[in-house]
Amino acid sequence: MRRPLPLALLLLVTPLAMAAGKPTVIPEAAITTATQLREAALKDDLALDFTRDLTTEVGARLAGSANDLKAREWVIARFKALGFDKVWTEAVGYPKWVRHGESGQILAPFPQPLTLTALGHSPGTPAAGLSGEVIGFANLDALKNADAASIKGKIVYVGPRMHAKRSGEDYGIGAGVRSIGPSLASSKGAIGFLLRSAGTDDNRLAHTGVTHFNEGVTPIPAAALSSPDADQIERILASGKPLTVKYTLDCGFEGEYTGANVIGEFKGSSKPDEYFIMGGHLDSWDLGTGAIDDASGIGIAVAAAKLIANLPKRPARSIRVVAFANEESGLYGGKAYAQAHAREIAKAVLGTESDLGADRIYKITASVKPEARAAVDQIAALLKPLGIDYDAKAPGAGGSDLSAVHAVGMAGLSLHQDATRYFDWHHTANDTFDKIDPEQLRQNVAAYVVVAYLAAQAKGDFGSRPGAFADAHE
Ligand SMILES: [Zn+2]
Repeated sequence: MRRPLPLALLLLVTPLAMAAGKPTVIPEAAITTATQLREAALKDDLALDFTRDLTTEVGARLAGSANDLKAREWVIARFKALGFDKVWTEAVGYPKWVRHGESGQILAPFPQPLTLTALGHSPGTPAAGLSGEVIGFANLDALKNADAASIKGKIVYVGPRMHAKRSGEDYGIGAGVRSIGPSLASSKGAIGFLLRSAGTDDNRLAHTGVTHFNEGVTPIPAAALSSPDADQIERILASGKPLTVKYTLDCGFEGEYTGANVIGEFKGSSKPDEYFIMGGHLDSWDLGTGAIDDASGIGIAVAAAKLIANLPKRPARSIRVVAFANEESGLYGGKAYAQAHAREIAKAVLGTESDLGADRIYKITASVKPEARAAVDQIAALLKPLGIDYDAKAPGAGGSDLSAVHAVGMAGLSLHQDATRYFDWHHTANDTFDKIDPEQLRQNVAAYVVVAYLAAQAKGDFGSRPGAFADAHE
């Protein structure tokens, strides 16, 4: 692991580095073409068609399920039908997790059913269910500070609330409890774990998502309650009456699975071995049909690529679209791509990925070499009429799967979507096609097509090199 340079040293080094290389620039003719592409994208419905068809004809796409293969075959066929010059797959292996069923109830003091869903990678309960007394904590810190003796043999509940925000930043709170909570509770002797769903809605639907048990910790059955059910639990806990619940999770690991990233490419005219990369993840959770997470992400990339391919003349560099495998249980597809392409990462000139729904993009950020900042200014100027502001100070790792590729040296650019509505539906049965707003989706395609075309036509690169952004964080 590299350590960041001290600030004083950075200040010395940066001007020298800037003087060393020629600035990356985008030719005037490319700006004219990108402006036309942007306007054409605002009238184009390929992203909408792609998202509708994938979620209708395949539906839910849990990694390793029967629909995993069906989705891959569907995307390969659609890429070929759209005329991609080359379509191929690259293998991605991971442990296969399955969900067969789940149910829950309050046993005492007020018997009634609970709406809950197992977390990905949770073990199942005994077939007859798991029962126990519940001990509640307001947040992860309260659980961290709790005495293990008070937790031993009990079911831990943790219930912080997320609030809807444009940046979606509260997901850090909910996902933190979901990923860290079960392992922490088990290390203190808990027999089960329940949380308030990592979501911003008040629907009686639970949000699933992956959890993680640390090495040496016994995995315990972990599930998310819908927010109204979490409220019910908290009211009873506040009354001081002992609360016992019972839940049954029929889920767990079933061996290893080999899936694949599906890749489509339109060849560049003069530098075909260099490429702009964009994509989304093909897997989804099993509760909904994975429309906002993340069929629309692939749809946006496909539509932008196709608009460029329809031009009378191809850009210099190739346009590559990746439908990544199994993002949901740990960025497996992104990590496999990064590993397979790390040595020739300089060929991936720049990348960006949509994985925060399909609502309007409001901000662009980038992690590129200093000499490419002027080119990002040129890109940002063309995005301004779409209502997108450039934050030149913040990094841009490229999106979920591509953050793993960025970590091995790909220059990244992030197109930040408005996430105000996203966590109402994310990872629930409500992640369905009707949540896609066609007009906002077109604005996404318009932004992606501008970035892709300009990066493919830029004179000079954006700094992709093995290890170039090893210290980067988004
Ligand atoms: Zn996603």
